[in-house]
Amino acid sequence: MIEAIVGLTALGGGLGVFLGIAAKRLRVEAPALDGALAEILPGQNCGQCGYPGCAAAAAAVARGEAPVTLCPPGGRAVALALAERLCVEIDLSALADAAPRAAHVDESVCIGCTKCARKCPTDAIVGAAKQIHTVIEDVCSGCGACVETCPSQGISLRPLPVTLHSWYWPKPGDGVARQ
Ligand code: SF4
Ligand code: SF4
Repeated sequence: MIEAIVGLTALGGGLGVFLGIAAKRLRVEAPALDGALAEILPGQNCGQCGYPGCAAAAAAVARGEAPVTLCPPGGRAVALALAERLCVEIDLSALADAAPRAAHVDESVCIGCTKCARKCPTDAIVGAAKQIHTVIEDVCSGCGACVETCPSQGISLRPLPVTLHSWYWPKPGDGVARQ
């Protein structure tokens, strides 16, 4: 019994050391620019830009394959920050920030298939199998990824109501779409 415990402990320790060394040796450092651009992006990995996550989007911008305006949830602010980091001039006059929105589940048609909850990159949807699902508005980024997954077409994106907390003086020419 003692031999088994000692043996397993030694095996576990050995594997741990091996994996630690491998992680160090095989580590692929992302180019500094990719990392810097990825820090500017929202980090939601929602895929609205067409890339499989913010890191891939940052790498594409760094390679010059994607425009700085690629991130819909980031809008003008992220585009400006990316352009500044890349030291490029950019005309954002045509780019309008979309009004903030969130997903909404029509509970009368929800069948509790859980597809939307599994798709959501921000874990904004709560529910259990065969139970009605609902969206936590404060967590939802409005990415829209869940809308297409719902077999009951029960999910829609709704503009978030303007509240005292979200209202602000519009800046002249800020390009934000007003409701
Ligand atoms: S739109 Fe849907 S998938 Fe996207 S964050 Fe909101 S609940 Fe999640
Ligand atoms: S995908 Fe649609 S039917 Fe399925 S749990 Fe979500 S809201 Fe309900």
